[in-house]
Amino acid sequence: MTSEKFAKNSLNNGRHEQAAPHQAPDDEIPWAPLHSLDTLWFQVGGTICNLWCTHCFISCSPKNHNFGFMPRETVKTFLDESKELGVKEYYFTGGEPFMNQDMFAILQDTLEMGPATVLTNGILIRERTAKRLQAISEQTRFSLEIRVSLDGCNAESNDRIRGNGSFDKALNGLRNLVTHGFLPIITVAQTWEDHETEKIFDGFMEIMKGIEYTRPRIKIIPPLRIGREKVRSRGYEQYEHITLEMMRDYDDNLLQCTRSRMVTDKGVYVCPILIDYPEARISETLKGAFSPFPLDNNQACYTCYISGAICHNFSASNS
Ligand code: SF4
Ligand code: SF4
Repeated sequence: MTSEKFAKNSLNNGRHEQAAPHQAPDDEIPWAPLHSLDTLWFQVGGTICNLWCTHCFISCSPKNHNFGFMPRETVKTFLDESKELGVKEYYFTGGEPFMNQDMFAILQDTLEMGPATVLTNGILIRERTAKRLQAISEQTRFSLEIRVSLDGCNAESNDRIRGNGSFDKALNGLRNLVTHGFLPIITVAQTWEDHETEKIFDGFMEIMKGIEYTRPRIKIIPPLRIGREKVRSRGYEQYEHITLEMMRDYDDNLLQCTRSRMVTDKGVYVCPILIDYPEARISETLKGAFSPFPLDNNQACYTCYISGAICHNFSASNS
């Protein structure tokens, strides 16, 4: 069976809505089985964002309504389902999650069930927002992590990618979070040559000292060469794809898709990276989302293979 045929079957024959087949089909292509559903992602901000970053791998913008905001009730339905399936932690992304007016209520619901992480560009984290997040965080026994994206350690390098004024606003958001007791994870997409990493890392340390964040947590993630990043730099070379041979003796636990799924307003997808690809939509429900996924279709999988669980707070590419 080819991967295209399998993806089609996963959606159309209803078999995977009830069953939870963990085993990959016997085939000549590489598959990612879902070993267990430990982590659940929500595309809570849809593809709507207050920025228009030139490297955005799902091409979010103020005008991109391909995926919409997820209302509290929808998220709650999936949270309830996730409990039965043993999910251990939750991630919220977009677009920009804090553009969703239900975000605070969603976090309150989630933190009754497990730890949560929000991926944000930091622009909307004003003083009162940070204060509210602190109050929510203090009412729960589970951790609330905030990840803030910055793509340069100064306005010039950051704003070239994320837009004019975004550096100052994000830095202000980070300052507010630090003031209100958070240790935000600063997520930086690598848009520079490897030999420059140390210098750039030092630059981040310096700028964080300025907001009294003396031991900042910095996560550098590799570029995913899809969406707008494909235009900004380059797409994948022909050789950059996963083969069956490459998966032999490889620890597939390093791939997000063997431990997690992504919920959107259009159904459940295999991972947070491939929501623009219809074949990555696995099912309507979480129970139906246990199908293995073919890794030979999309070259973004190659980046995961090389760099580890790049979307998770802690990963092989974490620094
Ligand atoms: S990279 Fe993040 S902040 Fe930038 S447009 Fe995409 S979703 Fe928005
Ligand atoms: S992009 Fe990464 S997480 Fe998504 S299916 Fe491919 S390997 Fe798995």
